Amino acid sequence: MTPESVPVVIVGAGPTGITAATLLADYGISCLVLDRWESVYPQPRAVHLDDEINRLVARLGVADEFAAISRPALGLRLLDHDLRVLAQFRRDPAESVHGFPQANMFDQPEFEALLRANLKRRTTVELRGNAEVTDVTQLDPGRVRLTYTDRVAGEEHIIDAGYVLGCDGANSIVRSSIGAAMEDLRFEQRWLVADVDTDADLNQWEGVHQVCNPVRAATYMRIGPTRYRWEFRLLAGETADDYATLDALRSLIAPWVNDIPTDELELIRVTEYTFRAQIADRWRDRNVFLLGDAAHLTPPFIGQGMGAGLRDAMNLTWKLAGVLTGDLSADVLDTYEAERKPHARTMIRLALGMGWAMTAGGRLGNALRRIIAPRLHLIPGLRKKIVNGTTPALHRSALVIKGRAPRQLAGTLCPNPVLADGQRLDALFGNAFALITTRPLAFQDRRLEEHGVVVHVAEPGSELARWLRSGRATVAIVRPDRTVMCAGRNLRKLCTEMPRSQVAVQTAGTQKP
Ligand SMILES: Cc1cc2nc3c(=O)[nH]c(=O)nc-3n(C[C@H](O)[C@H](O)[C@H](O)COP(=O)(O)OP(=O)(O)OC[C@H]3O[C@@H](n4cnc5c(N)ncnc54)[C@H](O)[C@@H]3O)c2cc1C
Repeated sequence: MTPESVPVVIVGAGPTGITAATLLADYGISCLVLDRWESVYPQPRAVHLDDEINRLVARLGVADEFAAISRPALGLRLLDHDLRVLAQFRRDPAESVHGFPQANMFDQPEFEALLRANLKRRTTVELRGNAEVTDVTQLDPGRVRLTYTDRVAGEEHIIDAGYVLGCDGANSIVRSSIGAAMEDLRFEQRWLVADVDTDADLNQWEGVHQVCNPVRAATYMRIGPTRYRWEFRLLAGETADDYATLDALRSLIAPWVNDIPTDELELIRVTEYTFRAQIADRWRDRNVFLLGDAAHLTPPFIGQGMGAGLRDAMNLTWKLAGVLTGDLSADVLDTYEAERKPHARTMIRLALGMGWAMTAGGRLGNALRRIIAPRLHLIPGLRKKIVNGTTPALHRSALVIKGRAPRQLAGTLCPNPVLADGQRLDALFGNAFALITTRPLAFQDRRLEEHGVVVHVAEPGSELARWLRSGRATVAIVRPDRTVMCAGRNLRKLCTEMPRSQVAVQTAGTQKP
């Protein structure tokens, strides 16, 4: 039997796999998504994503649909064991520089259903459910053979793929197939996760409540008009079964539900998770890549685990599409791990810091909570993420070109303001490379536009002009994932000093909106 042959196979149809498939389709690449289950995983998991991820979700074409199922939140409060406020980090529910609220609450199964419905609108992608991948083997260069079992018919199938994206979650078979191992960042705690629905008003502050209590750390947040999420650290010997009914759970959620009668509360789901911090030692072997939970696991204390998977998908897919269409050279694929791994590691460290603040015992724990928590915003590195929600710039790579000066734009995301014609910058740029400049291009630079680069001249005094000035630049080259590739004052100097990026920019002609 001749194996089926496809350019890209994505293993796993969780949020990472579906995002990667949607983006590849939008870049004109056909792919096949295989998942062992028929439909989305129904248990409670992610409830928060930030404005950077909301911007990415909008790129998938579902900004309005996501707005309809999500709820902006006011930020994060650290509380002591008596629920007194230790520190508060505000998030703006109005539009941020990325064009969306800085904190958004939602229900993961509902979000995944939305992503899958959106993927169905792309005719170049097939999602095959009940397809359990059992083997991934790299044959001669450029060919990866997958074996999967149709769980309904019980038949085995073989597929040859040009590239395989392993988006198959924490127990990834794709990860084992490339011999990658998870580096343990030494965090393991058992938590109870409970979702409750009620029409009653809980009258709580509309943000994430993190209860810093070494005995019983907890998180509470409203995730929808009538939906609420609690997470509690389980004590030794406890299991989710101990809290399987509202009567049993009531002892834990009492401070938030006050005197609302139990018959006005509906317990949607209650389950136990072991939160871990791990990162794969390598994210790629030849034509096989790891993305999402297959590459990194984080405790959810800053709500960034799923977001990291979506960031992976956004980072890799435009590069892969460029390589498959012949617009980019294959070595750009090396930049995926170089850029994403340090970012993911930093976000895991931030989550671990938050976990420590919530759960550390003894004198160190007390100091963290009473003395350090209110001053967390003074700690360099934590400041940006905790105070204004910005995640770190990507590290230097062949596609992030920066020197050593501080406050550089390269590696950061460009803003997404509304332009004079009423559309947002992202709508103008589509999937193309772009150039933001304060000076109109000289005649000889117009070739960039001929090669499909979208050029935007920022009005004096505009948000984009101010942003360029903040990085001491007058021009920035922006990649299709909206990361600044390089920025400076002299376009031609930028291009000549950076031959590889120039090649990328000049040949990105097919990646148009
Ligand atoms: C309690 C909790 C709270 C969380 N809160 C947040 C939050 O607020 N914000 C946030 O960003 N993240 C949060 N997360 C993390 C988030 O849920 C995960 O990071 C996210 O689901 C990972 O997505 P993924 O697509 O990479 O993997 P998964 O969602 O695990 O999807 C993997 C897919 O691969 C499929 N698969 C696996 N093996 C195979 C195989 N051999 N063959 C075929 N298919 C296969 C699976 O069926 C599954 O559909 C939370 C997690 C938990 C547990």
